[in-house]
Amino acid sequence: MAQRIVILGGGTGGTLVANRLRKSLAGEATEIVVVDRDDRHVYQPGLLFVPFGLATVDEIVRSRRAQLHSGIRFIEAEVDHIEVDGDRVILADGTVLEYDTLVVATGAVLQPGETEGLADLGHLRRVHTFYEPNGAAALGAALSAFEGGRLVVNMIDMPIKCPVAPLEFGFLADWYFQERGIRDRVELACVTPLDSAFTKPVASERIGGLLSEKGIELVTEFNTGEVDDAGGRLVSYDGREVAFDLAAVIPLHGGAPFITRSPGLGDAVGFVETDQATLQAKVKPNIFAIGDAAGVPTSKAGSVTHFEGEVLVENLLRHLDGQPLDASFDGHTNCFIETGFHKALLIDFNYDTEPLPGHFPGIAGLPLLKESRLNHLGKLMFQWFYWHVLLPGRDVPGLGSDMPQRGKERVSA
Ligand SMILES: Cc1cc2nc3c(=O)[nH]c(=O)nc-3n(C[C@H](O)[C@H](O)[C@H](O)COP(=O)(O)OP(=O)(O)OC[C@H]3O[C@@H](n4cnc5c(N)ncnc54)[C@H](O)[C@@H]3O)c2cc1C
Repeated sequence: MAQRIVILGGGTGGTLVANRLRKSLAGEATEIVVVDRDDRHVYQPGLLFVPFGLATVDEIVRSRRAQLHSGIRFIEAEVDHIEVDGDRVILADGTVLEYDTLVVATGAVLQPGETEGLADLGHLRRVHTFYEPNGAAALGAALSAFEGGRLVVNMIDMPIKCPVAPLEFGFLADWYFQERGIRDRVELACVTPLDSAFTKPVASERIGGLLSEKGIELVTEFNTGEVDDAGGRLVSYDGREVAFDLAAVIPLHGGAPFITRSPGLGDAVGFVETDQATLQAKVKPNIFAIGDAAGVPTSKAGSVTHFEGEVLVENLLRHLDGQPLDASFDGHTNCFIETGFHKALLIDFNYDTEPLPGHFPGIAGLPLLKESRLNHLGKLMFQWFYWHVLLPGRDVPGLGSDMPQRGKERVSA
């Protein structure tokens, strides 16, 4: 009997897995079904550029359906829950979708309502988020009307998608106000719950140094309990305050709410409990998870989702063939960090190796942890790569899922 693979989520992970599977299973009767609530695929790294007038929302959104290879069925619907024991997905309109194998690729959701003062995010006067299209556009309008004062960027708590994006926002704000000739009238601050600029020491030292060179204050160990729009204050749980005239906030993140409604599938915040090396869900062997939805100890990033895709597809095929899984996902993460003035840093790391200086993917490659124009071009090129290589599920010679060891300089902070 023909098998059915259901993929929940038609974003980065769902799309690339569906396309890779379609190619691997060409000529076989296996049905591949992708479910997503809408047909708007947002290139999320582009949201960073919207507030600074460097991209528009329209330029970074395409049809989801159009990214899927022919032979993949797309259902536009909201997932309500999964009946894990019965191998069934229940959609919000009551439709029942049976599966043989399931991939959860439903990403992370923003949870502004979990922080006092942010429940109305989207309707606040001087607090916005660039983590979704409307917020990014509103922040753009607020920035262009900003004539001076204190601008803060605050990540409420980890985990968040692309943990370096708030730092990039700070660097781009420095560039933006210099371009407008009013940098001397603007105070910039990055407010983080971490004890330094990044989660790992060598990168923290380098990025922290750059923030300080550019006159961007770094406020650490700040656990925001309240965002006071009217009063222009962030208030931490331990009573500290950071004043602002304009704030870019990154709300708390959690997994898609249906995960919590699906018995045994998720952890306390709704991410799928997943084996970090095979990407198989812990609850049942015929379920896999990818991308931001997966509860694995790596960054929530498109690059991670890309690298996971190779291992997940291999393991899903092995599962269908009754073979042992390949426990090879090493947590590989690779991110460009835009630093303004047409330059960027690049970091490359995995579960065991922190971001180190050197070159990627080998000694003659892009500089790591060092500002360069080449990295900035890489960041810009990534959008083309996303639509034309990553989503279609094409292999890139020399760029596999394993983190390259060569080219890295073993230093300590
Ligand atoms: C501002 C910003 C900047 C970023 N910059 C970078 C960067 O420079 N580099 C990088 O690598 N990554 C970056 N990222 C992160 C990257 O975009 C994500 O990690 C990546 O898109 C995750 O892919 P995903 O498939 O897990 O989730 P998504 O692409 O978010 O897809 C999840 C899908 O699930 C659907 N869904 C959820 N719940 C349901 C439901 N109940 N029913 C139906 N459908 C549902 C959603 O509609 C969505 O389409 C950035 C993210 C942001 C927000």
